[in-house]
Amino acid sequence: MKRRWKTFTYPPCEYGLQSEKIREIIMSTIFEKIISGEIQADILYQDEICIVIRDIEPQAPVHFLVIPKKVIPRIGDALQEDQSSLGHLLLTAGKIAEQENLSSGYRVVINHGKNGGETVPHLHVHVLGGRQMRWPPG
Ligand code: 5GP
Repeated sequence: MKRRWKTFTYPPCEYGLQSEKIREIIMSTIFEKIISGEIQADILYQDEICIVIRDIEPQAPVHFLVIPKKVIPRIGDALQEDQSSLGHLLLTAGKIAEQENLSSGYRVVINHGKNGGETVPHLHVHVLGGRQMRWPPG
């Protein structure tokens, strides 16, 4: 008897969720690999809580990322216990901005989720400077 294979079709939303999950598993490793030293990056600063690296695709003359070493996928996933680490990320952003001579001004951005423009699901604070910023952002 001829065997017939069942074809599985996924409802678009279910497939979307699945591919989103796969993307998270792959992408979450990029910053973790930078933190562990497995992947190289231009490191501006690091301590026990965070690492600061230059963005590989800078959107301004100065563009760096402040990344917590603890994996928090995005700002909305942060817990009460992360409160002091989140404060530390912003204080570090200001300190490195000063170090990078951004006294004329800079922008601090956190992208959350797809509509927010997030591409790497490991929380990071963007700091952009060295040019005039526009408002509203795109
Ligand atoms: P998001 O779009 O999630 O807010 O920001 C992710 C940022 O990480 C992007 O600006 C992107 O250019 C940067 N990025 C992605 N992969 C790497 C990498 O391997 N090294 C560095 N230094 N930056 C990266």
